[in-house]
Amino acid sequence: GAPINAGSIDTLSQSFPLCMRNLHMTLRKNAHLKHFGRLQYTLFLKGIGLSLEDCLLFWRQSFRNITDDTFNKEYRYNIRHSYGDVGGDANRRGRGYSPYSCQKILTEHPPGPGEAHGCPYRHFSTDNLTALLQATGVSDRDVLRGVREDVEKKRFHMACNRVFEYAHKGEIKKVKDDGTWGAAELDTIVHPNTYFKRSYMLKH
Ligand code: SF4
Repeated sequence: GAPINAGSIDTLSQSFPLCMRNLHMTLRKNAHLKHFGRLQYTLFLKGIGLSLEDCLLFWRQSFRNITDDTFNKEYRYNIRHSYGDVGGDANRRGRGYSPYSCQKILTEHPPGPGEAHGCPYRHFSTDNLTALLQATGVSDRDVLRGVREDVEKKRFHMACNRVFEYAHKGEIKKVKDDGTWGAAELDTIVHPNTYFKRSYMLKH
């Protein structure tokens, strides 16, 4: 498959679920993310297989407007901590923390003003959600209407899976038709890293 390193995240982000795409787009726009956004995104990147060295490089390059000194003082430690490179108890040493599941993202630390973490299906207004989906290439009216209905019924996962199916419809048809994928490979996605993994497998 395509390489997973600091230089490939922009490309790979096309396979990210909306929560992580929103973080990535916000990071590119502001050259910064607030604490919970950094945490949610760092753990996700770790989960896709980005090495600690590449993750540090990725953040260093992404925070274009700060000095190395500031980066090293204020951000470096927390990234290493997420990877289990420093701190934590003996259990976590060497492993760090697990990437967040949808359940955790949907229920803990709702984003406040200026924060980009969380789940857009849950935490965005309908207008902002539609605009974000369109910005990521989802413009099909039926899909957008389906998403709105899912969200009204608080079926946030369903909205996310609906978008996944739409964004991969050609690839899904192919693996279904040729029997490579059965029901197990296509069950409902409940983790951002599963979303990525599945998309990556279908596209690469
Ligand atoms: Fe991310 Fe899960 Fe929300 Fe999808 S449902 S956008 S993977 S938190």
